[in-house]
Amino acid sequence: MYPPMAEYCSQCSPYKAEHDHDLLALALALTPGHTSSFLCEGCANRAIYRDEEDRIYLAKLVGEELKWTEVNLVEI
Ligand SMILES: [Zn+2]
Repeated sequence: MYPPMAEYCSQCSPYKAEHDHDLLALALALTPGHTSSFLCEGCANRAIYRDEEDRIYLAKLVGEELKWTEVNLVEI
């Protein structure tokens, strides 16, 4: 039996090049006005959103609420 594989995003992955949720790739793949949600087991990141002006927002789970913050593409 193998232990269950945890899924990490590119912001917190302990395996440098290996991660399940590449935030930059997710952001670039998003159509403006759309959200992509994912589950990271390493941090509170839960979803990413791109608005019509190509601003990128990252949602972190705080308690039971999602908190959106604008992020720069170089940070993710
Ligand atoms: Zn993460």
